[in-house]
Amino acid sequence: MLGLVTEPGVAGSTRVEQLPEPRGDGVLLRVLEVGVCGTDREIAHGLFGVPPDANRRLVLGHELLAEVVETGDLVTATVRRSCGHCAPCAEDAPDSCATGDYSERGITRLDGFARELVLEDADQLIPVPRSLGRLGVLAEPTSICERALRHARTIGNRHPWRLQRALVLGAGAIGMLTTFLLRLDGVETWVASLEPEAPLVEAAGAHYVQVDDLDELGGFDLVVECAGNAQLMADAIGRLRRSGVLCILGIDGREQQVRIDGRTLGLDFVLKNGAVFGSVNAHRQDWLAGVDALARMDLELLRTLVGLRTPLDRFDEAFAFHGGKATLVLGEQ
Ligand code: BGC
Repeated sequence: MLGLVTEPGVAGSTRVEQLPEPRGDGVLLRVLEVGVCGTDREIAHGLFGVPPDANRRLVLGHELLAEVVETGDLVTATVRRSCGHCAPCAEDAPDSCATGDYSERGITRLDGFARELVLEDADQLIPVPRSLGRLGVLAEPTSICERALRHARTIGNRHPWRLQRALVLGAGAIGMLTTFLLRLDGVETWVASLEPEAPLVEAAGAHYVQVDDLDELGGFDLVVECAGNAQLMADAIGRLRRSGVLCILGIDGREQQVRIDGRTLGLDFVLKNGAVFGSVNAHRQDWLAGVDALARMDLELLRTLVGLRTPLDRFDEAFAFHGGKATLVLGEQ
């Protein structure tokens, strides 16, 4: 069977290869579609990722939509697995792993899903409703956004707080899915992007604004940084209203210094009871809530968000794509 493999640390080593048929315990899945994200691109550029033990090769893919071979049920599967020796992992919360020794499908120490067949533990499967069909491939990125918003609410609600005005920085897949989730909950949402336009924003009932025009909008109860730009992250501290919460979901690994006004951080942020946190990965409850939310969204909008679907052998097109979510299609329903 075919799969998409790479050698972590070796830029340009990503290729389609013949892989052995899966053998062993678990539920046999026929992979239908795998989403591609910034993490996959970083791995392909040799900047991230760890192969499974004693194996220089890593099978890519952590955003899964598959069919259970025996039943035909649609499923996705979690990405991160317990380290086996910390309290959060013992409580089935590897998204909050305290050691960093976790493994992640297609990213860290565990082969991923970009192959025709895969065996998966029944405990890691998340059911996907038939009504979502191939849009179930958005379950993983949605779970990431769902966790971020759940944590933001927990932090905001540490004292009386109302989430009325939200700002999402970045109009890529994570930014748009965060926006769709906020709009499902009726939160008035602005989306700021460095791009001149983002048509899905207005269609989702949110307001589009260019980053340069943000100063005119006043403060927000919640800002979610999904652009992966450390300067925008620092600037966002100054965009919080009283009791405002800033969640950083984007990643920016560039070596650089960012600027922040001393009084914005050392005075206003404190006197306004601000909070900043980062969020990665997702708990099982976020996967379940995410799939449930996806099924309640405007499916036409979600279809537009998936801007490119390519066969496995044209993976380079999916990796080069920047107009929304790109996916690799391995099988049809
Ligand atoms: C994935 C997460 C993962 C993170 C860090 C993201 O792209 O969605 O599941 O924890 O990368 O490896």
